[in-house]
Amino acid sequence: MISEHNPLSEKMTNEELEKMVFDLHNLIEIALSLSSNLQFDSLVESLLYICIGQMIVDKVAIFLHSNFENDDLTVYMSRGYTLSENTKISEKSLLTEYLRANHGILNAEKARVLMSDDNHCADLYKILVPEIIIPLKSKNSLNGLIFLSKKIMGTPYTEQEFLFLDKLAKFTSIAVENSRLYRMATLDRMTGLYIHHYFKERLSEEIKRAERSDLPLTLIMADIDHFKNVNDTYGHQQGDIIIKEIAALIHQNIRSFDIASRYGGEEFAIILTDSDINTAYHIAERLRKKIEEHNFPAEKTPIRITISMGIAQYNPSIDKNEEMLLKRSDTALYAAKAQGRNRVITNIDK
Ligand code: GH3
Ligand code: MG
Ligand code: MG
Repeated sequence: MISEHNPLSEKMTNEELEKMVFDLHNLIEIALSLSSNLQFDSLVESLLYICIGQMIVDKVAIFLHSNFENDDLTVYMSRGYTLSENTKISEKSLLTEYLRANHGILNAEKARVLMSDDNHCADLYKILVPEIIIPLKSKNSLNGLIFLSKKIMGTPYTEQEFLFLDKLAKFTSIAVENSRLYRMATLDRMTGLYIHHYFKERLSEEIKRAERSDLPLTLIMADIDHFKNVNDTYGHQQGDIIIKEIAALIHQNIRSFDIASRYGGEEFAIILTDSDINTAYHIAERLRKKIEEHNFPAEKTPIRITISMGIAQYNPSIDKNEEMLLKRSDTALYAAKAQGRNRVITNIDK
């Protein structure tokens, strides 16, 4: 597996040989963890620490695709840099255009040429001052970038380290591409919430988990009120913007381990794990109020929207499968609509 730049062909000191064995050992560990580690975040985190540890740098950042609508890259994780959550690199930047067309790791000089005079990247360049930029590419696209700062000791990156980073980039690209494909297969393109089909699978899994652990689980079904009127008054496109914004509000008002989906066109379903109906009611009420108070942007005056919700807690003695629980939440939602909308109704069937 030693490449054409075979460092062994040159005279190496013992220390260099030891370092190379250590590096190769690390690469094997990474390759193994890629096939076993389904937790993408922990994989990315260990990649950052491998960069820091192997290259002895104190600053590293990884940028990845963040939405389906364009090829912009957004900071996903960083160590040592101070970057705001939404720091982006436009798909139109010189840097990404260059990397889509060319292969290989960029050195400090190339990074400077591509970034420092480009309006899309000049400010970011001043923060990152990258010594190395590693592109993460799949067959057809640029899926991400890793930025590494100067080494702590100020020494340049060696050819061997370039080689190591090149291999690391190949492994990382596989993981990033897999994660992208997984997201595309499970997430709704418009809202970024889970799609109906995947959600049902998760619901059935979560019910089994709740049974095993004896922890409560509650399901929320939500439907936008009078949405047909909204479409008729403001147009379908404006309707879509509202759906996206409601999805964002849902996302912001649930916990990271809750599971939210776009269940239908303007219907949402949310699994609250480890939550009984009282906790769920508070979460649903808070969300309902947030939506009621939100100004949805429109051409003239902002639009106000409300949402109705039905909730039911999983009850093993009556919910023989996930369909039963869905049906009980739906019945509560129907009651919320019948009682005047803009409210949360709980199904307390025993
Ligand atoms: P209710 O308060 O009873 O829910 O009234 P409603 O008008 O919201 O009724 P319903 O939930 O049955 O209506 C769904 C409407 O939502 C009809 C459909 O045109 C619209 N809709 C569904 N999916 C989308 C979408 O993706 N985009 C837009 N803009 N509208 C959608
Ligand atoms: Mg509906
Ligand atoms: Mg509706």
